[in-house]
Amino acid sequence: MGDKNFEKFLSERLESCTLLDIFSREELQSLQDRAAMAFNVASIITYPDGSPVTQPSQFTHFCSCLMRDNKDGFRRCMNSESGLGRLHEDGPIISKCHSGGLMDAGASIIVNGKHLGNWLLGQVLTVPLTKEDHLHYMDIAKELGLDIGEVMSSVDKVPVISKDRFESIAFFIYHVANAFSSKGFNNYKQKLELEFQTKREKAFNNAVKSMREDLRRDPMTKLLNKVAVKTAVSKHLQDRPKLTSALMILDIDNFKKANDTLGHLCGDRIICDLASVLQSVFRTSDIVGRVGGDEFLVYLENALPETVEKRALQVCSAFSKIYEHNGRTFLASTSIGIFISSDEFRTFDSLYAKADQALYEAKSSGKNSFKIYAELDDLVPTAG
Ligand code: GH3
Ligand code: MG
Repeated sequence: MGDKNFEKFLSERLESCTLLDIFSREELQSLQDRAAMAFNVASIITYPDGSPVTQPSQFTHFCSCLMRDNKDGFRRCMNSESGLGRLHEDGPIISKCHSGGLMDAGASIIVNGKHLGNWLLGQVLTVPLTKEDHLHYMDIAKELGLDIGEVMSSVDKVPVISKDRFESIAFFIYHVANAFSSKGFNNYKQKLELEFQTKREKAFNNAVKSMREDLRRDPMTKLLNKVAVKTAVSKHLQDRPKLTSALMILDIDNFKKANDTLGHLCGDRIICDLASVLQSVFRTSDIVGRVGGDEFLVYLENALPETVEKRALQVCSAFSKIYEHNGRTFLASTSIGIFISSDEFRTFDSLYAKADQALYEAKSSGKNSFKIYAELDDLVPTAG
């Protein structure tokens, strides 16, 4: 990909990759079980530190139930396995178990130069037991405090295969394990590449989404801006032409004075306070926006005239507040022009023009009030 971020991501993930990133445990178990059955050898796959990845397959009674079940025996087995599990790049390590004396092998699984695990196999005899061997096993049983009869009958059941055959099985397992692992590793790399691309696409899409959202918002109040309000209202009018709708325009009274007496910072706070009042008074389904310096707009769909009036009064009362800075005061208030219409052919601009006329009336008749433009009676603003 030639991308530094991707290369860093890939190298970090590959550095921490384990056998179970490349294969599922079930896949490994099934491969191991089948190999153990086909070759009649015991088998287990471990991490480089010797801890098991899979469950044992075809373990002999002698190893699993006697030696490994005994505290000292288990310690000897682990000791022997750690020798088999050391990194060995030129094929399997084949040796007699230091614990029970059976033949074992360990194949290092090396991927991309990293030792990921070991495939251990064995628990076989490469020559039938001699009389001396039997005496040796009797000694082991005595040393570990095991039942001599059980030990002798279990060693007699250990599979006997020729040394050559055991070596060729060990080499086969070594090659199969490493060939499969390097294929699995390539698949894992591809999976990581896809994961990275998906993450990047998601991040890009989120960034585009948030940029688009930012473009619709007024940076100071986070309300919709004029273009976004117009687009949203027009869509509502188009989608549900038969519903009654109300458009309110609000303009802070004497705001220039607020800036002049208290300063622009305080003026900004007053603007944000009106935005908060609007957000608390109106439903989330109403469209609320800041469409100019001290001008706001609210669109309510399917609202009764009484409700619209009630909301306008709520806004006037909640916004009415004395601001003070350096001993100078400003009494905040707003005027509101409202147009309510059920005309099927209305547009944003036609609603806006009439609400604006009502606002003009509210401003002319003393401010701090609302006027409703009555559609049928031409312009007969109602006193707030
Ligand atoms: P009226 O009652 O007739 O509305 O009088 P007004 O003084 O409020 O006059 P108008 O609405 O025309 O003035 C709006 C003022 O708002 C003008 C401008 O300096 C100020 N303004 C616009 N944007 C901002 C802003 O983001 N922050 C602050 N502090 N002031 C702003
Ligand atoms: Mg104003």
